[in-house]
Amino acid sequence: MRLLALLDGTLADPEAAHVRVDDLGLTRGDGVFETVLVVDGRPRELGPHLDRLLRSARMLDLAVPALPEWERLFATVVAAWPEPGEFAVKLVCTRGAEYGDGTPTVFALAFSIEPHTVEKRRNGVSAVVLDRGFDPGLAERAPWLLLGAKTLSYAVNMAAQRHAASVGADEVIFTASDGSVLEGPTSTVVVVEGRTLRTPPASSGILPGTTQAALFRAAERAGWAAKVEPVLVDDLAAADGVLLVSSVRRIVRVRTLDGVDLPDATGPWTELSDLYEREYA
Ligand code: PLP
Repeated sequence: MRLLALLDGTLADPEAAHVRVDDLGLTRGDGVFETVLVVDGRPRELGPHLDRLLRSARMLDLAVPALPEWERLFATVVAAWPEPGEFAVKLVCTRGAEYGDGTPTVFALAFSIEPHTVEKRRNGVSAVVLDRGFDPGLAERAPWLLLGAKTLSYAVNMAAQRHAASVGADEVIFTASDGSVLEGPTSTVVVVEGRTLRTPPASSGILPGTTQAALFRAAERAGWAAKVEPVLVDDLAAADGVLLVSSVRRIVRVRTLDGVDLPDATGPWTELSDLYEREYA
């Protein structure tokens, strides 16, 4: 099931064409997006998602609608979604038509959660470590590379996912050229070491995750320590658990890394998933 809303507050047919062929989002991936989870009519981390959308847009010098307009657009799809349970909303803003009047293309597309996503939440995933090809200092040295912005240019991320699938794995963990861990193509990496959680810093050129922030908030309140600091690839195999977290997948445990079993993290995963869910109870 899918549902499309436009900035003027109208609903539109998600099967019909709405974007010009010279749209710069289409021809150059020049735009930004966010994907927000909604459970029982309540969005999760909408504020942080919209903050990150505006931050990404600033990194691209992209003129986007103001916060209240995004909130109205979001509310339109949430109000119109006809089913109980969970769904996701993708908010998109492109630079608009190349030969147009400079108006950005903006829409919100709501969609059902795929069964395979639910299955991975329950059973965990296999992952492979893949080189992302940059060092952790590059984001600061070269802001024009837009590392850490959530742009529509996800072709590399999707190619990495396909590579993982071609070697029989579900997921990817990207590493930097110095062997430090970055993120997944659509997720944040969190390692569990005793009662401590660790995730790499956004300054290394990765997206600051809204789910990771919510998980750390919940875990710290329950007495866990939570650190944002570099994680080395060797730390993954040595950890008590490796998690991939994001809005739609929620909290997922990595069962095998590069074909090697990781320690069974069912215990901490269950506790941390419960803490995360209780944030929204
Ligand atoms: N990193 C990347 C590259 C992502 O695309 C995503 C989400 O899709 C995340 C991390 C996790 O972000 P969030 O928890 O805000 O969904």
